[in-house]
Amino acid sequence: MPQSFSFRSRLILSFIVVIALSLLVSTWYSRHVIGKDLLDEAKQDTLRQVRMLTLLLERDLTFETPAELHAWLVEVSERQGSRLTFVAENGRVLADSSVPFDRVPLLDNHGQRPEIIAARDREAGVAIRHSDTLDKNLVYAAQMVKPRGGLPEGFLRVSTEHAHLDARLERTLGGLLIGAGATFALAALISFLLARQLSTQVGTMSNMAEAIGKGNYSQRLRLYPGKEFSPLAKSINRMAESIQIQIETITVQKQQLVAILDNMKEGVMLLSADGRIQAVNRAMTLIFPGIEHCQGKTPLEAIMDPVLHQECERALENRETGAPVSLLLEPRSGVFYDVGIVPLKESGSGLGAVVVFHDISRLKHLERVRRDFVANVSHELRTPLTSIKGYAETLQSDPAASPQAKGFLDIIVKNANHMTKILGDLLNLSRLEADRQAFELAPVDAQAAVMSAYRECESLGRGRGVGLVCRIPEKAVFVLADYDRLVQVFRNLIENALRYSPEHGSVTVFHQTGDGEVLFGVSDRGPGIPRDEQAKIFERFYRVEKHRLKMGGSSGLGLAIAKHIVERHGGRIWVVSPATGEDTGATFYFNMPPASQDAAKAQD
Ligand code: ADP
Repeated sequence: MPQSFSFRSRLILSFIVVIALSLLVSTWYSRHVIGKDLLDEAKQDTLRQVRMLTLLLERDLTFETPAELHAWLVEVSERQGSRLTFVAENGRVLADSSVPFDRVPLLDNHGQRPEIIAARDREAGVAIRHSDTLDKNLVYAAQMVKPRGGLPEGFLRVSTEHAHLDARLERTLGGLLIGAGATFALAALISFLLARQLSTQVGTMSNMAEAIGKGNYSQRLRLYPGKEFSPLAKSINRMAESIQIQIETITVQKQQLVAILDNMKEGVMLLSADGRIQAVNRAMTLIFPGIEHCQGKTPLEAIMDPVLHQECERALENRETGAPVSLLLEPRSGVFYDVGIVPLKESGSGLGAVVVFHDISRLKHLERVRRDFVANVSHELRTPLTSIKGYAETLQSDPAASPQAKGFLDIIVKNANHMTKILGDLLNLSRLEADRQAFELAPVDAQAAVMSAYRECESLGRGRGVGLVCRIPEKAVFVLADYDRLVQVFRNLIENALRYSPEHGSVTVFHQTGDGEVLFGVSDRGPGIPRDEQAKIFERFYRVEKHRLKMGGSSGLGLAIAKHIVERHGGRIWVVSPATGEDTGATFYFNMPPASQDAAKAQD
């Protein structure tokens, strides 16, 4: 049955079909039984008549001729409304109430009629059939009779009409049909009412289930059409209850999350897997007013910073590794945000990444103040220091100076030199941190940079008998770098290596190319750097404790400067100690982007 039929229509239709079928069957059966009863009754009635008339012919009446008998049969027939026939033993008809006497001899021989044959065998015979003589359906009953008087022995046959049976049957059937019609109407009405009641209750159930589905979880099913619906109602109620509990838990958790997020100082932005803004917290609306209306937009449309947008896309591409991305954002002059983008692993929530904006403007401001202060102090101290050193050196060259004074002057000059180096390095570092755009990148011949750096500190090596082995061939390795800065990196590393190498040793500079980078190494056989201090030596002013007293002329800034320069070139610097393949010493590695072949040739 198509789904477009309502439950009620289907129920009513099924009831009606069942009722109609059962009424039809019962009416047909009743008609059959009643018809059979009526026929039996007619047979018995005809038999009764034939028996009674036989008795009269055998005991009370006397007929001498067939004509007399015929007259009597006609009289009785008119009174009883049945046809009476007297058939001789041989089957010849002697008298028949429905045929004029003079035509009786014309009638067929009746000896083979079923009722006559039956009467010959038994006391009486009955048959039902069509009479060709009268053209009607008749019930025939015959009995052997020995009439008094001059008539021969024969059969008396009474035949009654079937038609009144049919009429009675029709009447009975009419009554039955009226009864069935009334029963049908009543049953249809009752089934309609029942179906309506059932469908109303089922409708109430489904309305409640729908209300629960729409979020009205406090609703419960209490009324249902019958106990068969009880498990369904119970499971719907249980489902509603558990959804209600879960929704309450989720609501509480959501409120807690919203409270945390909205009271955070950091701006938080949620991105969908396809890089669109899903939600932002209150702090975010203060950082970027109007962003609360940018749901579904990309970070580029909402914040208009291409770098941030690019980094968000990069983080979303790395969702599998989950590697966070961070960047510095300066949306307005003097306002800085440290932006952390944390990609979220696929969880089916559709979320792609969380972006956190941490305001570091104050930190940046303090950093600038410190940098300016350091730069200013360094600058201001240089002049008095130069004059102290100048005067001390002048006094040193005075032949009249006492040995004690000369000793003091040596110490003054040595410390003035040390301080000059520190101030020089400090100024260098401040300038590097301040000028973000100042690097001039061009193809640089790495060997030339190494040799230039070595020349600056050659005297230190010569004084200790330490030489340089440069394994980088001339004009063979080109990197894209700021020449002076690259020289500075090599100088700081070579100077350290010369300083810490054992006397009469050697320092090796080498390179490796590959993977879109050029890797440089500066290796010595010195005391090396303890493992737990290897990361710290790149911090400002950090010095390995055991070298502190032994080695003069160090500022603790050389590696910090080298690190800064390398990172500004997009590279990385690190140390391996003991040196690669050795049991002592250290190898400092750093990588640089290679210069393209064409650019390098042009330089050449
Ligand atoms: P410095 O001016 O003191 O050399 P650096 O920043 O260059 O400052 O170095 C920091 C510290 O790292 C040094 O004080 C030293 O303890 C250690 N160091 C640097 N290079 C080497 C090296 N080649 N061998 C051993 N220790 C080293």
